[in-house]
Amino acid sequence: MDKNARVYIAGHRGMVGSAIMRKLQREGFNNLITRTSAELDLRDQAAVAGFFESEKPGYVFVAAAKVGGIVANNTYRAEFLYDNLQIQNNIIHSSYKNGVAKLMFLGSSCIYPKLAPQPLKEDYLLTGRLEETNEPYAIAKIAGIKMCDAYRAQYGCNFISVMPTNLYGYNDNYHPQNSHVLPALIRRFHEAKRDNTSEVVVWGSGKPLREFLFADDLADACFYLMQNYDEPGLVNVGTGEDLSISELAHLVKDVVGYQGRLTFDSTKPDGTPRKLMDVSKLNQKGWKYTIGLKEGIWLAYQDFLEKHA
Ligand code: GDP
Repeated sequence: MDKNARVYIAGHRGMVGSAIMRKLQREGFNNLITRTSAELDLRDQAAVAGFFESEKPGYVFVAAAKVGGIVANNTYRAEFLYDNLQIQNNIIHSSYKNGVAKLMFLGSSCIYPKLAPQPLKEDYLLTGRLEETNEPYAIAKIAGIKMCDAYRAQYGCNFISVMPTNLYGYNDNYHPQNSHVLPALIRRFHEAKRDNTSEVVVWGSGKPLREFLFADDLADACFYLMQNYDEPGLVNVGTGEDLSISELAHLVKDVVGYQGRLTFDSTKPDGTPRKLMDVSKLNQKGWKYTIGLKEGIWLAYQDFLEKHA
């Protein structure tokens, strides 16, 4: 990828896409192609085909997807399946049709079986049942991985798949019901501190274990892999370290500076008991994360204060 390459970032306004965009801009890329969802509905096959024919990108990052936390995944099951399949099918197929030199498909750690051994190695894909709440999203993402591999095998396309762990960072979604745990907790602790509320409710038992990566670290890894990884299959991107939701809640509480109590709402789902990535493949390729969890939560909180408070 040279700096004048035409690079299309699908989903450039989202947390991941915007981080990839900042990274490419910092690296001096000056031919970035973007479209808002109002300008281009990625679910529309004809519209996407027309866009690729006129723009002819050389490189593509697929960071566009319908995403959300545990409740959103479970509530909008049809949309998570249909929208994501449409978006990725259209982009991947048009990339093949228009001779894209390299494409990166971004998935998620929820593609792995619910009860897979930990840490999650890349070859645990399709070895067991998925977690029920986000099965539609996971099925779509698994189809995307297989599509990249199939287009590589049949047509020789250099399409790669990257599976990030749970992400957080700038431009995250802070919706009280539909967001992921970290932004949800930042918001809830912030509002409890502002309103002098005596307790904050955390969903589930607090026992599930999760790993978190700052989105700018992911963008750095994506850029690195776009230059240094050309294989079928998938590669995990994470820190390789996890903590319990209860520990996470205490960390967010400290960063926000909330003084009240924490309680747990066991009527809300826990989801997968543990979801820790095995990142040895990534480390062997020569990449490691740099932004620690406490620092990252602080950075995300500053962004929240600027945009939502
Ligand atoms: P998951 O990693 O796919 O399960 O997605 P989430 O980020 O939505 O949830 C992670 C864990 O955090 C689950 O065990 C949730 O029950 C728990 N959790 C605790 N409080 C919250 C909250 O306010 N919102 C969300 N989304 N999850 C929460």
